[in-house]
Amino acid sequence: MLNIDVEEERKVILREYRKLLKKAKPFLKDGDAKLIKKAFLTSLEAHKDMRRKSGEPYILHPIAVATIAVEEIGLGTTSIIAALLHDVVEDTDWEMEDIEREFGMKVAPIIDGLTKISGVFEYGTSQQAENFRKMLLTLSKDVRVILIKLADRLHNMRTLESMPRNKQLKITSETIYLYAPLAHRLGLYAIKSELEDLHLKYTENEVYRDIAAKINETRAARQKFIRNFIGPVEGELDKLKWPYNIKGRPKSIYSIWNKMKKQNIPFEEVYDLFAIRIIVDAPVENEKAACWEVYSIVTDFYKPNPDRLRDWISTPKANGYESLHTTVMSEKGQWVEVQIRTKRMDDIAEKGYAAHWKYKDSYTNPEQTRLEQWISRVREMLESNDTSAIEFVDDFRSNLFSDEVFVFTPKGDLKTLPNRSTALDFAFDIHTEVGAKCLGAKVNQKLVPLNYELKNGDQVEILTSNKQKPSKDWLRFVVSSKAKSKIKDLLKEDKKMAALEGKEIVFRKLKQMKIDPRDEVINKIRAYFDEKTPLDLYYGIATGKHDAKLIKRFQEEVLKEKDNSNHRIQSLNDANSFERELKKVKGQDMLLIGEDLDVVDYKIAACCNPIPGDEVFGFVTVNEGIKIHRTSCPNAPELLSNHGNRVIKARWTSQQEIAFLAGLQIIGTDRVGLISDVTQIISSELKVNMQSISVDTKDGIFEGKIHLFVQSTKHLDKLIDKLKAVRGIVKVNRYD
Ligand code: MN
Repeated sequence: MLNIDVEEERKVILREYRKLLKKAKPFLKDGDAKLIKKAFLTSLEAHKDMRRKSGEPYILHPIAVATIAVEEIGLGTTSIIAALLHDVVEDTDWEMEDIEREFGMKVAPIIDGLTKISGVFEYGTSQQAENFRKMLLTLSKDVRVILIKLADRLHNMRTLESMPRNKQLKITSETIYLYAPLAHRLGLYAIKSELEDLHLKYTENEVYRDIAAKINETRAARQKFIRNFIGPVEGELDKLKWPYNIKGRPKSIYSIWNKMKKQNIPFEEVYDLFAIRIIVDAPVENEKAACWEVYSIVTDFYKPNPDRLRDWISTPKANGYESLHTTVMSEKGQWVEVQIRTKRMDDIAEKGYAAHWKYKDSYTNPEQTRLEQWISRVREMLESNDTSAIEFVDDFRSNLFSDEVFVFTPKGDLKTLPNRSTALDFAFDIHTEVGAKCLGAKVNQKLVPLNYELKNGDQVEILTSNKQKPSKDWLRFVVSSKAKSKIKDLLKEDKKMAALEGKEIVFRKLKQMKIDPRDEVINKIRAYFDEKTPLDLYYGIATGKHDAKLIKRFQEEVLKEKDNSNHRIQSLNDANSFERELKKVKGQDMLLIGEDLDVVDYKIAACCNPIPGDEVFGFVTVNEGIKIHRTSCPNAPELLSNHGNRVIKARWTSQQEIAFLAGLQIIGTDRVGLISDVTQIISSELKVNMQSISVDTKDGIFEGKIHLFVQSTKHLDKLIDKLKAVRGIVKVNRYD
């Protein structure tokens, strides 16, 4: 039995609530406290019978989230109310209308947003991606939804201890995958670091504890070092017109761990365990001068490394970060990073987005618009995007992580693009039309190709031609989501136009043969030509990949023998009987494809091309061994009903589990279709998973590097033999 001291719990709740009020007090206007109290009492009542996994009263969670929102993000009354109520609609009988009626139209949309994105996240599924997409959509409405969601996530991570292990892993991987990068992008450094540290704590606990202990042990030595370092400088800093403050902050556990891993060194050899931060409290109009003045003083005493000077005051980062960083040589012969910034800059660096607004009235900071630009770019991406949600999240994530490159238009306007952007990315950033017709560019007056990688400070002029058309190759060297999605759209349009022609040809042929072009017929022709969709089929016909004359042969070979089975197809067309047939099959013994690859040979059916993860079944053919079909294959009803005894249950085992990663280098003479021949062999013939492929062609020589998962060396040898047989391939090597 759980022993609950109700009186004691009431005291704890009130204490936490008062703490929240105290933090909020400086920002409150008339009547605010009353509203907050109402929200608190509402939440208290709504959650009164609920407890968290740890056993404590549930209300402590919303109070904590609200406290984080005020204290660590700098949000105000509306957000406090929303944070207090954030789980009410989801977990209790309260409806959105109740919130609207009781708390008005300022709070309601935020709660609505928070409720919508709290659905079940399933790592790596489209559901999760879809949820994340929804969450970002709220950016365009009210960024506070995401800020409160981050506060919610932070508190859940802080209290992850009491969750079962599988939940811990799920929540923490989601955190490192999406929330930490998002916090970074919104400039919430402190929260981002804490999320990362907590992630490490729950995934590699020993490492985490080890590093944390060592940071603790070295504290005294570090403080001594900092005192010695500051000593000589202080006298000069005292002569400044403004008050200043010096901090020596250790790096986060997570970033130290990353450094140790990356450079393969022990803790003791990480030289920049901490940075020294000098914060000047200078008024806005003197900020820049003040920071450089401090820089000048520091470098009078210590020699700076010229390669490590970072001026994010003149050109702030896209998330609004402003600071002057330099690395100098200390007396002990150790490099030390010194960060110089003003009080305002420090506030923004720590608290991010919300702090921007605080300073908005007093100072029109041009970098605020940069953050707004980023948000509007996200919005644009969300609105123009018709790619699948998972693809979208991947694109978005790669943009979250990358740093920026700064370039100029011919008129001298500054543009910020993701790192490694090319001239073509720049063209698409200006306008889709400019991108679509981009022929090349002039960078600093010199002619460069489309795939030229932009460098900081480049001045870029785009050259266009009306004859230019987007090509699939372009996708290989653009990095911005905008360029990628626009090129895909344009290619799709192109393909659709061409496919229209192909469709006409197919329909004409069928008419000549007096066959009604029903979906079923088209689907069979598609399977006959080994294409995935009717669009691919039409496109293949239009571009000459397939010979339309073959449709006649298709008629002779395929349609004729179907006459006798037609009535069976009809009888299976209702969903129930199909399900029934499937169930029969599912009861049988399993064939785990992938586990005994050497023993059980099989072929992938061309009609439906199943891939790992698809629901599949095996079919024993007369001459070709076992063929694997998708359960959704258009031929499935027929096979299952007519030849049930030849059907074997099949299931994909996880390839990764039993596979290891190998690298292949492929050299040959370039020709049209070579890459597709190579990838065809790798992915469909030998059922190998490719992790990455990079291809270089120069003067007609083709060099490809492929990372793939194979089951055994025997398997790999077989693959190498097959690849060697491809026309044009000269050499295939393994490398590590
Ligand atoms: Mn919550």
